[in-house]
Amino acid sequence: MRLCQMKKICLICRKRLAVNIPPFGWLPCDVCRKRHQEIAKPKRTGEVTTDQIKEDRKIYRKDLIQPFKDGHLSREFAEAYPEKVQQMVKEGNITKEEVQSARDVWDLDYYKR
Ligand SMILES: [Zn+2]
Repeated sequence: MRLCQMKKICLICRKRLAVNIPPFGWLPCDVCRKRHQEIAKPKRTGEVTTDQIKEDRKIYRKDLIQPFKDGHLSREFAEAYPEKVQQMVKEGNITKEEVQSARDVWDLDYYKR
């Protein structure tokens, strides 16, 4: 019967007394158990995740722009990647005239749809 009267200090906070609950045995004190339950609750990450996706779309939107459409150089692309366009001219993939005649191939209606 000595065991039942034995007291243990909570292993988590080491301040309060642990609780002996059969059949579980020794459990952390009331405060620590409650705290643990709160931590274990599912977090509301839904809104955070949505914001993160929105933010990602903003950041990576440039990547959605294709350089060509129907053989025409996209002005949006030329504006987003001036260095890349310069490189393409250098490598002979496009001519300077093509760059000058680049036009909005991805018109705004595309995004409204
Ligand atoms: Zn505790």
